[in-house]
Amino acid sequence: MPDPFVAGSNMHPAGGMVEENNVPNPKRKFSNARRDKRRSNWKITAPTLVRCGNCEALHVPHHVCPSCGTYGSNHRQVVNLRRSHSA
Ligand SMILES: [Zn+2]
Repeated sequence: MPDPFVAGSNMHPAGGMVEENNVPNPKRKFSNARRDKRRSNWKITAPTLVRCGNCEALHVPHHVCPSCGTYGSNHRQVVNLRRSHSA
């Protein structure tokens, strides 16, 4: 049995466990309604898309165009889409 007077022990000198929890925890469970009201603000947003300056296809800005494989205002060819399956 551990010494009850050692510092840091959770044993009370009178014996028995001290009700002590130093970990920050929520005091009580949130109700289902409160949880669901919080989640009711979650919404889907449409992705922002821009027209590719090279092939006019829609793509995510600051990403390589999946249609033609170019990137940036100078339409630099960074992915060769033709060679991806053969070769
Ligand atoms: Zn493109």
